[in-house]
Amino acid sequence: MKKTVVWLTCILLLAALLAGCGGQTPAQTTAPAQSTEESAPQESKEAEMTPEAKAAREAAAAVTSDSLYVKPVTGMPEDFILGMDVSSVLAEEKSGVRYYDAAGQEKDLFQILAENGITHIRVRVWNHPFDKEGRGFGGGNCDIDAAAEIGKRAAKYGLPLIVDFHYSDFWADPGKQMAPLAWEEMKLEEKTEAAGRYTRECLEKLRDAGCLVGMVQLGNETNGKMAGEDTWYGIQSLMQAGAKEVREIFPEALVAVHFANPENEGSYATYAKKLDYYHVDYDVFASSYYPYWHGTLENLKNVLDDITRTYGKKTMVMETSYAFTDRDTDFSGNTIGDGGGIVKDYPFTVQGQANHVRNVAQAVADMEAGIGICYWEGAWITVGTSSWEENHEKWETYGSGWASSYASVYDPKDAGKYYGGSAVDNQALFDWDGKPLESLKVFALLRKGNEIAAAPDAIADAFLTVDVNDKVVLPETVDAVMTDDSRSPVPVKWDVTEEELAAMNHGGPAMYTVRGEAGGLPAVCHVDMIEFNFLQNPGFETGDLTGWEVTDFGKTEQLYVEDKITDSNEGTCHMHFWSPGENTVEFTLEQTVTGLKAGTYKFTVSIMGGDGGTTEIYAYAKVNGEMLPQKAPLEITGYDQWHTGRVEGIEIAEGQTVTVGVYVRCGGAGNGAWGKIDKAMLNSQ
Ligand code: CA
Repeated sequence: MKKTVVWLTCILLLAALLAGCGGQTPAQTTAPAQSTEESAPQESKEAEMTPEAKAAREAAAAVTSDSLYVKPVTGMPEDFILGMDVSSVLAEEKSGVRYYDAAGQEKDLFQILAENGITHIRVRVWNHPFDKEGRGFGGGNCDIDAAAEIGKRAAKYGLPLIVDFHYSDFWADPGKQMAPLAWEEMKLEEKTEAAGRYTRECLEKLRDAGCLVGMVQLGNETNGKMAGEDTWYGIQSLMQAGAKEVREIFPEALVAVHFANPENEGSYATYAKKLDYYHVDYDVFASSYYPYWHGTLENLKNVLDDITRTYGKKTMVMETSYAFTDRDTDFSGNTIGDGGGIVKDYPFTVQGQANHVRNVAQAVADMEAGIGICYWEGAWITVGTSSWEENHEKWETYGSGWASSYASVYDPKDAGKYYGGSAVDNQALFDWDGKPLESLKVFALLRKGNEIAAAPDAIADAFLTVDVNDKVVLPETVDAVMTDDSRSPVPVKWDVTEEELAAMNHGGPAMYTVRGEAGGLPAVCHVDMIEFNFLQNPGFETGDLTGWEVTDFGKTEQLYVEDKITDSNEGTCHMHFWSPGENTVEFTLEQTVTGLKAGTYKFTVSIMGGDGGTTEIYAYAKVNGEMLPQKAPLEITGYDQWHTGRVEGIEIAEGQTVTVGVYVRCGGAGNGAWGKIDKAMLNSQ
């Protein structure tokens, strides 16, 4: 994931691969990662751990929280990957960012993460994210040297890398998969060789730096494109070259492929089929999962399980994150969060963030061969100055923003225009001062849970739909979102005057936001003033006459609801009539409505048709069975020539029923009178 305004429109993100722990760990390449027993391999792993790694692991086992609710994840294997992408960390540190543990002590970020149950560190690798003068493109300026430094520091705390090759000089995601500049002119054969060579050189560098490599991902969110190749033949060729090198240099590491947009029906099945067709050698089919873009967890599980069942692959969530606040703290707009509220099931709170992580972990643990999750850029916080100008200077100098202006030489359309800071500072697991949020503890608490007493965490937005002519009555209670994700009603006090409420009744169809307070927390009610349609099945979209009554006074040969979008005024269905004989068309189509409030109403309906000869067609209304005088005459004049009739001033007293309808009589001519009736509306007036 990265950040720009453009993000909101292109769905993307990065991907990665994960693997066991390089070099020293038992291979994870064959057994489905669901076994919960791991005796001997675990012991040997521990025997080789550094003292720092051992201490961090012990600290993680001792994590407790007085305020964070964590429902235990069931069926989570011992070797479940709890990864964290901190690719921007070096640039952040150079910009002056410091990280602290829960006790307020400044520490190495990797130690803090290990002490909170993180098991793997993901790092993106760009071929050459620098301009000719050596100025970094930003996003952490993540070349292989940065990755090696990160990996070396992570290894001290026993954290293997998930190496995320973008095979690009800057961000690769579903929206862009540009080849590195040095490969741009290459034909596929040459590019394949370059990809293999580059992968080898990088992995050797990581090995020589003492990094542990648990997983290597070949491309990032490669939804049908990669490194400038836009055919699967091209993509697989590059992937094969990379996989071969991973197998040789880190034989214990898992090889992963990474995609985004699991919500696009059939897309993952297609990718997996292509990879299978070309015999691409990989272990893990990984997905990004951002809840505000990527559909439901249930769908995610289904599409990934399908790949396990069909091809025997492991699966994981390679990127996920959620916001703990709607605030932006670095003067560079965020991907989500503006306006607050509860979006996609979770409030923008520390607890909401933790509940999201927990539920993603449970979804993956529930998968047939789910091996883990990885949080995306949990430490990419503000560089901490008091203005955009000061921050901008740091982003430019150290690469701590998503893009610097120097990236324009490579990516002029996006980075070149929208360069800036972090779009995910409100999705980090540290606050703006580098202090850890309570939600960072969720990783250490996932397995055992932390089921403390639930408390109100946020107020769920209330939604009210009101007819334009009806009085706005705001709810007296709203739902508190409890820390355990349950809901509980609490009284609310709205900050609104009678005048403001009355004004909503005179503004026509419009949306209003009313703010208030409930249980000491901010509350919001969204009021949608609409022109309510009191008719049932008003456009015949049920495909039948539900709600309507037809009376045929003639011998109308065809008189039914038809599902034919090209003949409909709205939706796909409409009422259809046709009859070949002269003077055979005569019918009424009507609906009776009860329970209306006293008031004035209007009825509207549309018709088109032809070959009617002499016609008598009109819309009408009856109150308690009495025909009103104000009929609306209609005519049929040809295909696609819709005529709309409106009966206004239908006065209804409490308890009265209203019947609205259309009378149609045609003399008929030529091929027979025909017509279509659609879009009936009974609105208040
Ligand atoms: Ca920001």
